[in-house]
Amino acid sequence: MGGGVDLHTHTTASDGTLAPRDLVREAVRRGVRVLAVTDHDSTDGLPEALAEARAHPPLEIVPGLEINCDVASGPDGAATEIHVLGYCVDWEAAWFQEFLREQRAERRARVVRIAARLAELGMPIDADEVFALVQEGSAGRPHVARVMMARGYVKSVREAFDRYLRAGGPAHVPRRRLTPAEAVAVIRRARGVPVLAHPALAGRDELIPELVRAGLQGIECFYPEHSAAQTAHYRALCRAHGLLETGGSDFHGPRTGRPNPPGSPAVPLAVWDALKERALLCRA
Ligand code: AMP
Ligand code: ZN
Ligand code: FE
Ligand code: FE
Repeated sequence: MGGGVDLHTHTTASDGTLAPRDLVREAVRRGVRVLAVTDHDSTDGLPEALAEARAHPPLEIVPGLEINCDVASGPDGAATEIHVLGYCVDWEAAWFQEFLREQRAERRARVVRIAARLAELGMPIDADEVFALVQEGSAGRPHVARVMMARGYVKSVREAFDRYLRAGGPAHVPRRRLTPAEAVAVIRRARGVPVLAHPALAGRDELIPELVRAGLQGIECFYPEHSAAQTAHYRALCRAHGLLETGGSDFHGPRTGRPNPPGSPAVPLAVWDALKERALLCRA
């Protein structure tokens, strides 16, 4: 092991189940040397992750975040979501933190709307139960799913998504926030590097050119749920458009129904060198 790169992970600052300190320890145990912490609409896990990393040289922490966006409908009329990762942003800037606070406020308002929808479907939940799980963090559907499980409406988080919460599902309530192009633009405004997350999950490649015009710098090619063919397809797309090929585990903690530990799938160390170079260009 050693030399591992993982550019996509979550902590208790959003819907991960490990505190930043414990995520860092787990990553180190798995041989990760470059770890991006990319919580949803929050950078609140970064100070603790950076502090813990100082005890594990030569581990490097890449400051990041993930912004989830809803897209109304595709050619087939299907609702879908596009996730945008941002790396090396000026995360301490006051305006950017204010932006993240607004994002999180809409996340909480959305939980209330989802709870109302679930009540209509005969599965009442209390939004306050969801917020109790979230504490200071960024609320999301995984927290809703955990409450649904506790109430016995579903047996797993995955079942909650598959049957109710997925984009276009009966309890899906879209966010009232940014378009994917606006998410890309806000990351550029914060002098960061915007990357399209796990594109095969959305399967909406026709949206990519607009994102590139908005300033997109890369595509997450190496991802647990990407097939070898999908990885190859997005790597070719990156080469054709001069985009970075990035990757990561999207680890949310043990026993969260996600198969991959930190550092898996393998991401070439050259990806990190290329990202650092882009980060410098995006700051210039
Ligand atoms: P939200 O933050 O409300 O947009 O919820 C998105 C998060 O839900 C993702 O980042 C994943 O952590 C999780 N998620 C999405 N789809 C599924 C699924 N099918 N099964 C389990 N978790 C999922
Ligand atoms: Zn998540
Ligand atoms: Fe995502
Ligand atoms: Fe993620």
